[in-house]
Amino acid sequence: MSTPAPFPTGTILGYPRIGRRRELKRAVESFWKGDITAAELERVSAELRAATRDRLVELGLDGRGSAIPESFSYYDQVLDAAVTVGATPARFSYLEDAEGAVDLAGYFTIARGEGEHLPVEMTKWFDTNYHYSVPEIGPETNFHLASTRLVAQYAEAVAQGYVTRPVIVGPVTFLLLSKASEDAPEGFRPLSRLADLLPVYRELLRALRAAGAEWVQLDEPGLVSESLNEDRLTVLTAAEKAYRELGDDTDRPQIFVAAPYASLDDALPVLAGTAVEAISLDLVRGSLPEFTPGLEAKTLVGGVVDGHNVWRGDLTVAADTLEALRGLGSGAVAVASSTSLQHVPHDVNDEPYLSDQLKSWLAFAEQKVGQIATLATGLVNGRGSISAELAASAAALADRLAAPGVHDPVVRARTAALTADDFSRGEYAARVAAQAAALNLPDLPTTTIGSFPQTGDIRRARASFVRGDITEAQYNEFLREEIRRVVALQEEIGLDVLVHGEPERNDMVQYFAENFDGFDVTQNGWVQSYGTRATRPSLLWGDVSRPAPFTVEWSAFTQSLTEKPVKGMLTGPVTILAWSFVRDDQPLAETANQVALALRDEIADLEEAGIGIIQVDEPALRELLPLKVADQADYLDWSVNSFRLSTAGAADATQIHTHLCYSEFGVVIDAIRALDADVTSIEAARSKMEVVHDIKASGFDHGIGPGVYDIHSPRVPSVAEISELIATALGEIPASQVWINPDCGLKTRGYEETTASLTNILEATRAARG
Ligand code: GLN
Ligand code: ZN
Repeated sequence: MSTPAPFPTGTILGYPRIGRRRELKRAVESFWKGDITAAELERVSAELRAATRDRLVELGLDGRGSAIPESFSYYDQVLDAAVTVGATPARFSYLEDAEGAVDLAGYFTIARGEGEHLPVEMTKWFDTNYHYSVPEIGPETNFHLASTRLVAQYAEAVAQGYVTRPVIVGPVTFLLLSKASEDAPEGFRPLSRLADLLPVYRELLRALRAAGAEWVQLDEPGLVSESLNEDRLTVLTAAEKAYRELGDDTDRPQIFVAAPYASLDDALPVLAGTAVEAISLDLVRGSLPEFTPGLEAKTLVGGVVDGHNVWRGDLTVAADTLEALRGLGSGAVAVASSTSLQHVPHDVNDEPYLSDQLKSWLAFAEQKVGQIATLATGLVNGRGSISAELAASAAALADRLAAPGVHDPVVRARTAALTADDFSRGEYAARVAAQAAALNLPDLPTTTIGSFPQTGDIRRARASFVRGDITEAQYNEFLREEIRRVVALQEEIGLDVLVHGEPERNDMVQYFAENFDGFDVTQNGWVQSYGTRATRPSLLWGDVSRPAPFTVEWSAFTQSLTEKPVKGMLTGPVTILAWSFVRDDQPLAETANQVALALRDEIADLEEAGIGIIQVDEPALRELLPLKVADQADYLDWSVNSFRLSTAGAADATQIHTHLCYSEFGVVIDAIRALDADVTSIEAARSKMEVVHDIKASGFDHGIGPGVYDIHSPRVPSVAEISELIATALGEIPASQVWINPDCGLKTRGYEETTASLTNILEATRAARG
């Protein structure tokens, strides 16, 4: 037997796959529209994969040493694993061929739904803003190797002259992220199918080995999270079983278990006791482990370059950490990104509008690969060989930490002077009375969540303005006309609390980043959010403040058009942080308070301008919840406090609303109550108002608007359907607390269904009032 190939000294856990200019998005969407064939889509993606491999080698990864991960996906890596192991939900079994395989079109259909077949659910991937497609597993799931696409992609790389490393979500994480299928009996646990799933992974590994693969990467972030639906002992037992069985097979590539997003803790000794050859540690989020028996035979892969954020960071600290890792006494040490680089944009040098100074502080995916190549050189040839790079990164960091704007004394003085009073509003009962007198709303007041349809006209006008084809005055007049229309429509429908529709906002976070100091926005910094959707997270690099009011003019103009109260619309501090790249040189709690004070200034100006209702959206409150239980209380404390700080300056008579995009109240119910918003709107239509039972059980006694219209689909809910949802809500919650609203904003909807649905909501509400 030949000696096994060593693990590459420098590697990444994954690379952005949408393409620098979102080429994959365009190709996939053209395929959906029928403008290109499956074969053409395959060709475009093969070109993208080939270009990525070439580029990664140029940037310093070993093209023949298994350093390049085959981490491409047409839509989502969890969906890829599902179709690989034959886990097609029963309602989509018509998509399968005789071998139980689905083709590319069928793959997208599972993700997006078809006719009355609802798509698989989507949910957040660990504590990131990436969403994966949730597999549905039951006793009926017929696990078998249904796709060898990964093997074909490996062969494609070989044909290009490379020896790469296939990547797939590991079996334990796959089942931990799955939900029980519709047909499964009550209480069924997907993880109970592990024994049936493992032979499929074994077969896949054998096929990869037969194709020549030296190493395979199995992603197991499920082993670091304590927030999935199984107790820790069950997870560890499953990990032990999975990697003992896969490890003991002789006819396989060497196995690299990747564990991004936090530390492995007690899962590390479990993996160390199996035959897997390499294990990654997230040393950005987690800390250095202790030596564990078994590690002397393994390669420890130090994830010291942050895959989840965009800072260039301190390479010397990274090199020190690798030294310390080497000191543990494992068989070998390699360097990697802490997570897949799918969470960061492609290239800092692709940003024409960022200053050179800011760019010198940043590292996007390409720059991070370069850093890893440097650190790998250091591991092999000693620190002296990379001293110039270490010095350059230290200089950039020193420049960043001393830069004006990174420390603004005025902002610092303000947060330092905060006292407990700044975080609390007056008594709720007094607020209710003051608001009732000021607002004079009917029972079961109706409202929307903020945005109205973002039509092609709005997007075209914004693009013309950005290009300079129309003047600012012309653009503003266009927006005012849009607002007049939206107000007239809401009055005609009969809504009680009106909104301006948010036509001036490209994105609910970027709009704030553009108007606050301490932020910059990117031109090409796209990061995949799900499927073909990508966002451009803003860069929060300095102390945050608000130089001037920016939403007030729009809200005041809207209020001037109507006798009805107009709701001012802001994005909350936690959501602004969650959907931006945040500075890493101070606790998030401090950054959150700065953002909160900037919002507090805007709220004061909105009140001054006569706006009596202000909504502060916090859809991301749950998303940042730490994966480790021990860290959660501290997070919930500062996140809730930052929301309270942003809103606590409001007068008793000002009604503060908040909006959350999900209905799993679960662990965050106490936090939501602690926000102390006067009215909270949440998603509820999709789950048929299930959430009202939790609300009642929790003793929630403020205003609550459980959504009665699922805005994720063009479907118009009937009056009868809405009436039933309202009746369910009123069955559990006193009518005096209940608001009637859709699940979320309407920006992705068209006017036709929006008008019809809101009209039905009003009809059902009037009936309920009577
Ligand atoms: N106010 C925002 C809107 O209506 C809220 C969006 C969200 O919850 N994600 O679009
Ligand atoms: Zn929402």
